[in-house]
Amino acid sequence: MLAAVIDGMNEGGALSGAGAGGVGESNGSKAGRDGNRNGSNMASLLGLIELSWGDVGLLLTMPRQGLGQAAIAAVANEEQLKRFGGKWAAMAITEPEAGSDSAAIRTTATLDDKTGEYVLNGEKIFVTAGDRAELIVVWATLDRKQGRAAIKSFVVERDNPGLILERLEHKLGIRASDTADFRLENCRIPKENLLGSPEIEPKRGFAGVMQTFDNTRPLVAGMAIGVSRACLERTRELLAEAGVEIDYDLPPHSLLAAASEFIAMESDWEAARLLTMQAAWMADNKKPNSLQASMAKAKAGRTATDIALRCVALCGSIGFGEGELLEKWARDVKILDLFEGTQQIQLLIVARQLLGKTSAELK
Ligand SMILES: Cc1cc2nc3c(=O)[nH]c(=O)nc-3n(C[C@H](O)[C@H](O)[C@H](O)COP(=O)(O)OP(=O)(O)OC[C@H]3O[C@@H](n4cnc5c(N)ncnc54)[C@H](O)[C@@H]3O)c2cc1C
Repeated sequence: MLAAVIDGMNEGGALSGAGAGGVGESNGSKAGRDGNRNGSNMASLLGLIELSWGDVGLLLTMPRQGLGQAAIAAVANEEQLKRFGGKWAAMAITEPEAGSDSAAIRTTATLDDKTGEYVLNGEKIFVTAGDRAELIVVWATLDRKQGRAAIKSFVVERDNPGLILERLEHKLGIRASDTADFRLENCRIPKENLLGSPEIEPKRGFAGVMQTFDNTRPLVAGMAIGVSRACLERTRELLAEAGVEIDYDLPPHSLLAAASEFIAMESDWEAARLLTMQAAWMADNKKPNSLQASMAKAKAGRTATDIALRCVALCGSIGFGEGELLEKWARDVKILDLFEGTQQIQLLIVARQLLGKTSAELK
């Protein structure tokens, strides 16, 4: 039901992009008088912050909100957008030998000239919503010798017989969300399912496929902001019940230690929220935001994980027990500092951008 409501909002225009499916390059709302635009990236971000308030796994399990749809929106042509738009799409990049270093993927795509199909072979692991989605966006290389530039994304229908489900993962958190491992065995797809250009352009390098992340990293940061806000709100209630007053007019040294720690967490949370909104705003206003998208994800992922655990600590045994959601949120939140690029990888991207280094120069 919730997914249908979000579909309606996405179609409605004004609230376009209430979930992850709405982000893309060209669907911002009309620019305001000063040329400022709050479009689908901002709307999606605000929607995801609310939806993650309370449960990260539920959101990841909602039909049509898969991050694969954001990948489609970022690189698909008009015809592909029509064909794949509105479907539930998961994204499969990670392989047993390639996690953080996504340029090392080994899954191959070979064009069969006779049938006009690509034949995919390889292994993909940790695919969020991989079992339940309708489509899987698979990253594969057209030619391993040509490095990053040869990596393209391909849309595979979930019921393709060449896409074989190996197992579902058991995890620390987000247990409502399925995480699937696949084998691709002579998996044939129409050549029209390659997203973007089939040409290998060494100069463009990874740009085509990587573009997706500039839009999705702020969304993952948004999920971190949503769930950590829930942690803060519940902790505030529990502290109040215990007689801890949070008085913003007093200096930190005059407050109880718990209240002082709470206010410090709130300010850190606010910094993460503003950074994330900036990254989404830049995407809507067509400003290059790779740096800010990674800064936002690094800051929000780290801050939210930290807040969740400190909230558990502040509430003591109550926070640790399953009677409170703080325990669950502390488990769920960790993934947001891990997938779509870990904390360390975001910092590496930020460093490269600030120092003007390529990925070959700074590893
Ligand atoms: C629940 C879940 C859902 C997921 N969903 C998806 C999905 O939908 N699609 C998908 O494709 N993948 C998905 N992933 C995979 C996820 O993106 C990877 O786990 C992540 O990119 C890290 O890769 P890895 O696990 O191989 O760790 P590794 O790359 O082996 O990293 C291990 C550790 O080393 C650090 N590290 C690695 N390289 C460097 C470096 N150069 N400098 C400093 N530190 C470094 C990392 O930060 C990490 O701490 C998911 C994972 C999980 C757990």
